[in-house]
Amino acid sequence: MSPKRIVVIGGDAAGMTAASQARRTQGPDELEVVAFERGPRTSYAACGLPYFVEGLIDPAERLVARTPEQFAQRGVQVHIRHEVTGIDTTARTVAVTDLDAGTERTEDWDELVIATGALGIKPPMPGIDSDGVMQLRTVDDGIEIDRRIKAGIDRAVVVGAGYIGLEVAEALLARGLAVTVIQLDETPMAEALDPDMGSLITDALREAGAEVVMGTPAEGFEENDGKLTAVRAGGKTYPTELAVLGLGVRANSSLAAEAGIPVGATGGIVVDERMHTPTDGVWAAGDCVESRNRVTGESQVVALGTHANKQGRVLGTNIAGGSSTFPGVIGTAVTKFADLEIGRAGITEKDADRLGWNVVATVAKSSTRAGYYPGAEPVRIKLIVRPEDGCILGAQVVGGPGAGKRIDSLAVAIWCGMDVEDLAMADLSYAPPMSPVWDPVVFAAGVAARELRG
Ligand code: FAD
Repeated sequence: MSPKRIVVIGGDAAGMTAASQARRTQGPDELEVVAFERGPRTSYAACGLPYFVEGLIDPAERLVARTPEQFAQRGVQVHIRHEVTGIDTTARTVAVTDLDAGTERTEDWDELVIATGALGIKPPMPGIDSDGVMQLRTVDDGIEIDRRIKAGIDRAVVVGAGYIGLEVAEALLARGLAVTVIQLDETPMAEALDPDMGSLITDALREAGAEVVMGTPAEGFEENDGKLTAVRAGGKTYPTELAVLGLGVRANSSLAAEAGIPVGATGGIVVDERMHTPTDGVWAAGDCVESRNRVTGESQVVALGTHANKQGRVLGTNIAGGSSTFPGVIGTAVTKFADLEIGRAGITEKDADRLGWNVVATVAKSSTRAGYYPGAEPVRIKLIVRPEDGCILGAQVVGGPGAGKRIDSLAVAIWCGMDVEDLAMADLSYAPPMSPVWDPVVFAAGVAARELRG
């Protein structure tokens, strides 16, 4: 019997993890694994791109975890610069364009993996296609931004202060550019953090020397001969030759939708916990799918590498006859701007309002290290708690070096449905260089517990 043929669309985190895991689970007699990637690289770490632009990583190819040749050695055939342009779920074929040769062909599959990722949001604004309006999504984007900085531009505008916008702003400031950050909401990371926590990032942006324009919609981009000359926002003009968009992403699910593969109201491809779509033989993983939020029960697209890798592994195990499930997400994320570290998990107070949930929110101020130890920095932890039983539904952390990864113990508490009384006595570690004797997480839980007791 000939081996089952698996075709993977998308050669980055989700797709190549799925391909590798399938190959690990079954050998070449049972499985043939072929991947198509429209870009020139496989398995590149988009997460590292801001740090490449900052100049911390050089050359950019260090961001590539595995090349097509390395995949071939492991029994996975990858065709780079090949775009899948159509899926036929009845004939079980995909239409593929070889972007370099300009030729088209049809490829058969027994099982299909869609791992097409996300697309940066690019609203239809005047001048948005001018030369100089960029996104940071691929290694080539990073290389191009780096080239422009080296060519001597001295100012840039970052449009959107989500986590990618902030990471880009940090990188550009570190490269010596004058940076303006324009954000529609009143505070940065407005979808991830409540305004009281987000405003701490505004302060950090200002301290780092950025011009901060909050609560202001970008209105368009001025150009001369097709080249960007300024960004317009709030009736003002910000001259620049480089604008980087950080306006969020949407699932890249149109190929699936056109083939009749169900896509949810979130825009993400619908999958079950085995990462199988409702269409026979079609699987999907990563930024292009919607996931179940374990706290709210809602479906949502959470475009993060953590999920793309886990979902790819689950998918790869199942497609090769194994058994694995993806348990959902709680929206855990961490980032930094300059020395300020930012983490979040679960719901925000704003989410609770939207859902009509009665919650108690507390903010605890503590320190990243023992107060007397060099380098101790303030850290603030906000907890969102269900008053009936003290269950922790959400957490936000903003503070100095050492603060950010504290979100992980809070994420585990949320994941496991812990209550604040339990967490307030949890056996977390202590030594002065790493923590005050009351760890900030334990301390924050104690503050919330006291608030609930009244
Ligand atoms: P992608 O990485 O987007 O890969 C999809 C691939 O499919 C792409 O290579 C694309 O070219 C290809 N493709 C699409 N359509 C087709 C087609 N029709 N035919 C062929 N190929 C196709 N996540 C974190 O968890 N932590 C971080 O710190 C973090 N930082 C980030 C920083 C930046 C600047 C960016 C851009 C992302 C960051 N992420 C981070 C998100 C993370 O990179 C993504 O969640 C992850 O890459 C998603 O993997 P994926 O395989 O689902 O999608």
